[in-house]
Amino acid sequence: GATIGILGGGQLGRMLSVAAARLGFLTHIYEPGAEPPAGHVAHRVTTASYDDEAALNAFAASVDVITYEFENIPTAALDLLESLKPIHPGRQALATSQDRLTEKTFLQDLGLGTAPFAAVDSAEDLAKAIDEIGTPAILKTRRFGYDGKGQARVRSPDDAEAALADMNGAPAILEGFVDFSIEISVIAARGANGEVAAFDPGENVHKDGILDTTTVPARIPAALKTDAILLAGRILNALDYVGVLGVELFVTPQGLLVNEIAPRVHNSGHWTQTGCVSDQFEQHIRAVAGWPLGDGGRHSDVVMENLIGDDILRVPELARDAATAIHLYGKAEARPGRKMGHVNRITGPKS
Ligand code: ATP
Ligand code: MG
Ligand code: MG
Repeated sequence: GATIGILGGGQLGRMLSVAAARLGFLTHIYEPGAEPPAGHVAHRVTTASYDDEAALNAFAASVDVITYEFENIPTAALDLLESLKPIHPGRQALATSQDRLTEKTFLQDLGLGTAPFAAVDSAEDLAKAIDEIGTPAILKTRRFGYDGKGQARVRSPDDAEAALADMNGAPAILEGFVDFSIEISVIAARGANGEVAAFDPGENVHKDGILDTTTVPARIPAALKTDAILLAGRILNALDYVGVLGVELFVTPQGLLVNEIAPRVHNSGHWTQTGCVSDQFEQHIRAVAGWPLGDGGRHSDVVMENLIGDDILRVPELARDAATAIHLYGKAEARPGRKMGHVNRITGPKS
């Protein structure tokens, strides 16, 4: 069968590998870290850094198509891989979403709402940005942030110096603080032929900057769900995207604002494993392999809950609940803040 190459061997790569195997594909994981969670289920694993040209060449030679589970793939590695095999989602999606400034500018140019923002490279920039945007605001590193890392609150202009120090000299962006009612996300897919399928928006609750739960259906009016899905479709089309995309949104009295986009399967889409016939992982594999997309329709109400750190100790108890599907990532060490698994609990038929 065909082989799908996956850059990154974390839990997303692992669940992509499971979905690929179910559709008859082999997977080859490329991951610098030792003992990647995806290694347990993939056909093949290469443990090598992203500057190892020989390893990248051999990896590309062994696969038919390349995808990834994270957006921070080093540029030189991408240049090399791209010259050897097709990569989906493509370069434009990666370049846009790797940098919060590029991302927000792209969204604004598409006519979508975002928090007000300004680039910050110096104390002068920050003073000017605070002048324009006001407080409260959030200073974020432009690149490499996840799970709320690389962010500092600016409650008043007095916080400016400390917030800038938190960036450790990295290029940053100041965002106005959005007074949202709830957070939702749309997980949507676009196939090689341009067809689009979206999952129902989920309602997200974060704890300590990390996603805690996603609930479907989200408690928002039907018209807003349609807005969210159409907006995701516009992003997919603008990027000529192939694969699954996650769009994080703030619900405000003025409508939807886009927080960020992720060019990959997304933690807030894990509920689809239990709520849909084709989940986000299958949908992504279908798209990158050039298959028709599956049906994104939802058949059940579901709550997804992340198992973070010591939450893993609850598994014996969770295993007694027949309505709960358990997904563990096979990570040996339960460090605080580390995503160890998740559970999808069916709360009823689709409402
Ligand atoms: P992820 O793990 O989702 O990639 P991240 O580190 O990229 O997270 P963001 O999604 O930008 O960070 O922010 C994390 C959370 O902080 C958001 O889900 C939201 O709850 C809150 N937040 C971020 N930006 C804003 C904002 N401008 N206004 C209000 N709240 C915000
Ligand atoms: Mg993010
Ligand atoms: Mg986020």
